[in-house]
Formats: sequence, C-alpha cells, structure tokens
Amino acid sequence: MRKLIFFLAPLLLFSGVISYKMEVALEIKGRYKVFVKGREIIQWENNAQVPVERIPFHLYQNAFRKGSSFMKEIGGLPRKWKKHKEWWGKEEIKRITVNGNDLTGTLKFTQPDDGNSEDRTVAEITLPEPAEPGDQLTIEVEFTTKLPKVFARSGSGVGYYFVSQWFPKPGVLLDDGKWVCHQYHRNGEFFADFSTYEVKIKAPSDLVVTANGELVKQEKSGKNQSLLFRQDRIHDFVWVADKDFIKVEDRFSSPKQPEVKILLFIQPDHLRQKGRYLEAIKRALKFYSEKIGPYPYKRITIIDPDISAMRTSGMEYPTLITGGSLYLLPKGIKFTEDVTIHEFGHQYWYGVVANNETDEAWLDEGVNTFFEENIMDTYPWFFDILGYRARDSERLRLGYIKSTYADPIITPSWKFFPGTYSANVYTKTALTLETWKRLVGEDKFFSALSEYYRKYAFSHPTSSDFFNTVQQYLGDWSGLWKPMFYRAGKVNWKVYGVWGREVILLRQGLDVEVPVEVEVETQDGKKHSFVWEGKWLKKNFGKKVVKVSIDPKEKLMIDANPFDNRWSRKSSIPSRLAWRFLVNIQAIFLNLLP
Ligand SMILES: [Zn+2]
Repeated sequence: MRKLIFFLAPLLLFSGVISYKMEVALEIKGRYKVFVKGREIIQWENNAQVPVERIPFHLYQNAFRKGSSFMKEIGGLPRKWKKHKEWWGKEEIKRITVNGNDLTGTLKFTQPDDGNSEDRTVAEITLPEPAEPGDQLTIEVEFTTKLPKVFARSGSGVGYYFVSQWFPKPGVLLDDGKWVCHQYHRNGEFFADFSTYEVKIKAPSDLVVTANGELVKQEKSGKNQSLLFRQDRIHDFVWVADKDFIKVEDRFSSPKQPEVKILLFIQPDHLRQKGRYLEAIKRALKFYSEKIGPYPYKRITIIDPDISAMRTSGMEYPTLITGGSLYLLPKGIKFTEDVTIHEFGHQYWYGVVANNETDEAWLDEGVNTFFEENIMDTYPWFFDILGYRARDSERLRLGYIKSTYADPIITPSWKFFPGTYSANVYTKTALTLETWKRLVGEDKFFSALSEYYRKYAFSHPTSSDFFNTVQQYLGDWSGLWKPMFYRAGKVNWKVYGVWGREVILLRQGLDVEVPVEVEVETQDGKKHSFVWEGKWLKKNFGKKVVKVSIDPKEKLMIDANPFDNRWSRKSSIPSRLAWRFLVNIQAIFLNLLP
C-alpha cells in the first residue's frame, strides 16, 4: 500500500537542524563512572524570517546535579545524592566550531525559564556574524556526557544504560526568530526539529545495543563493537545498552497499515510477559491505523527496562518506547498493556505530530491519554482483582475531580500548582475529548482527529491549530473547549430538586455550554426527553414527577459528580445511602490505582 505510506510525504517540513552525524563511544570505568564521549556534526539552517545571532543548546544531563532547576523542583538534591557525587550527571561541550570558527569561548549557560543561575541545562553560543534567513551552518561539537545513576528517564542501572537526552541539541527556532529551548524541568518534556540522524556507537561487545534508528552496520572485534544507526524524519535520538536483553521480533500489517517490524528487547525474567507487550502493540497499531492513519515508520522498538532502572520505564522516543513489567504481574492488572499502549500512542502525538511538549503538554499527553483510554477499553477490564473491576476510563475521573482547581490545562508544564500537572494535562484533557467524542459521535470525532494528524504530520502544531482543524469538521464547540482548556476547575450538572410537578436543574462550576440530554418521567407514565443548555432550568411537567435523569446515555465524562444526575421518587433514603457508600468505596479503590 504505497499510497498509504506516502500520503504524509508532501507535508514534510525540514527546518532548523537538517541532520546530525555523530561518532560516540560508551566508556564504562565503574558502576557509576559511565561516559559517552564523541562528536557531532550538525547541519543547521536558519528557517526564520529574521537574522539569528545566537544558538542555544540543550545540555540535559546537567539536570542531575546539585543546584539544577530539576533538583529544586523535586524539593532539592536527595540526601543520598549529596553524599554520592559519583551518581551525578554531567554534559559538557569541550569544543564547538561553526563553519570552522572556534566559538567555544562564546559559550555561556542561560536560564530562560526561571533565572536559576546554578542551572546548566541550556547553553548558547554567539555567532561572529548573524546567520541570515536561509543560511546554512555546519556546527561541530566535541562533547562528553557522564550518565547519572538512573533518576528520571536516563542514566545507568546495573549493566543497563539508557542513553537519552544525552547530546548537545539545538533549540527550535520559530518563524519570528524566537528560540524555544527550555531548561530541564520535573514536569514537561521535549521539543526539537525533525532531522536525519546517522550515529556511530562504539560499546563493549558484551552489551546488546539498540537505538531508535535502523541498524545498518555492526562490527565486532574482541572486546569492542561498533554499530551504525540511521533514521530520518525523527526529532530525537536515543539508544540503550544492556547485558541481558533478549531480542524478540514480530510484525504487524493490515489493509490500512503497511508492514511494521516490532522489536522487543526484554529482560530474561520477563520473557513470559512478551505476549502481553506484543498484543498491546498490535492492538494499538490496529486502532490507530484504522481511526487516524498509518504509522509512518517501518519499525517500532519496545524496551523492557532492567529492574535497576525502572525510572526509565514508560517513556516515548520517536520509533522507540520503554514499557514496564514485573516478574509476577497478574493478568488482572493491565499495567504492561496500558503503558505500552500509552507510549505507542506518543508515536502519533509527539513523534509525528510534534507539538511543544513543555508549553502545551496536553497536545501530546492529553490527546494520547484519550486514545489510551479508548484502546484500553477494548480489553474487557483494566483492573480485575477478586471480582473488583474497573475500566481505564473510570479510573481517570478521580484526578480530574481532585486536582484541577488551580490552573487551566493550557499552562506551561513546570508552572502548574504542585501535584496538579497530570490531573490537568492528562486527565481533564482526556475526559473533555471523550465527552466531545460522545457528543458528536465516534466516527465523526476520529475523522476530525485524523485530519489533524494528516495536516500536522512532521510539524509543530499549537493548541489553536488543533481547535481550528477539528472545528472545521465538527462545527463550533467553543462552549466546551474554551472553559475546559482555558479555565481552572470542573463542571457539575445536577438535579437540584423536585417539588411535585416541578423540576430544577443546575450547572455548577465551569460555564460549559453543551447540549445536555434530560429525561423526566411523570406519574401518568409519560417520558419527556429534551435537551437543556444553560446554567439552570426550572420546568413544570403538568403531572407529578417520578423520575429525573440528566445525561442518561453518560456522554458527559467531565461531569464531576454523575451520581447527582438521577432522582427517583421511589428510592428510599436507606437505599440512597447504600448507593453513596458504594460510590465512596469505589472512589477509594480507584485512588489506589497507579
Ligand atoms: Zn505520555
């Protein structure tokens, strides 16, 4: 199905960094003395409309040292880390030239986000003369990265090295000449140009090495091996080396999806879980290729992290994801499936449609959580232990109810009120999209998202690109998304009260204007179905009201308390109390879930 493969091609946008060519070596001098040393040649083009005088670089392994903004955001360098300086990470540019001119002397650390002068996660060079629009530069960088003990996302475990955010990487230059080059934060992820990567890695030959590129060459000689990886149309490069990895290969193809090779690098003691990983990936590939569009790469790699490095699990990189499993994970808890499906989803929302993950994280995490929940709900249950069952969509609501009071969804990731980032960016977003889907109908909603995917593949859309594109398909839904995305808080629809023939309905919290279906039953057996829009409603039904139901088809997933949507003259006070008790038990249970 060539047509399918190439339908994205005309939209390819190459700009900023055109290509990276790297030669690096992994040097292991001790348990925590693990270095990646080498050089990179970057072809960079000024794609902005204005001249550029400076180029900032991410030096993200400097997050794992004293004084960094990351360490401040997690509450300071942990006590153990103060004692063990050898655990710290470090990333240093030894030499940098631009078109042959040595600019090492112009390098300086900058802190564009928070002014924390101890943070070294961004450094910039000043060009001897401005680069005009369209100018191409050859940037050569010699660098050394010391991997930290695994703390978050990258680093060394026991015989396991997860090498991500490891090379000096330029920021993203916007049209108006503004750079996006954020410091490394606790919350908020990454943003970079689509480029071609060619990376040659030298490593000890007893390690199994893989990367998010196609392995084009591998040579072993004695204790060393060298591997060459190549990949185009990706915006990050990551590699992994492990002494125990077992490689499992599989494939997926369908009328809607050209063949994809599935590579699973799994720990030997997790081998019995391999079927769970592979089935989850295939389920996700099937769902996405049918609803949104084909996965545009030939390969997807899943890394099953070593137990010493579980903090590298559950992460996404272009064409490579990290899962997570445990030796004895009961089949009733679909954690491995959930994390695999979630991280695979990022291939679409982050990998191909590459929004700025730090400033508008909902576009990747929230859209992706919405899909995760839809795919997970194709399993009968997310959680099924001793007869207690819950679906993924049900477990999402709790964070939304508890933790969305301080900031709107559209807030830069590191600026959220403590502890409320994921409830907004993941949960509130996913529930809003799920509500939107149920209100317009599944097929229509997925078609709109498919159009968004097609239009913004291999580029960097923003929130307004998203809303404009889907509204072209769905009409004006600003009554839903404006309050839900741009205001803090939640919404609740309720039966305020019933007095004989009269019913009062009330909307509390956010002013969400959507059609709300209501059913009222009167004593003569008549059913009155109508649509209510607005803040409140007082209505007389002519006969004694016996039953009221707001949103009987359960479309409003953003309704903070769906239990006050029903009223019945028959239900006695004890049975209402028993109902509330059950609801509370469920809430406690859901709270315990990851
Ligand atoms: Zn995610």
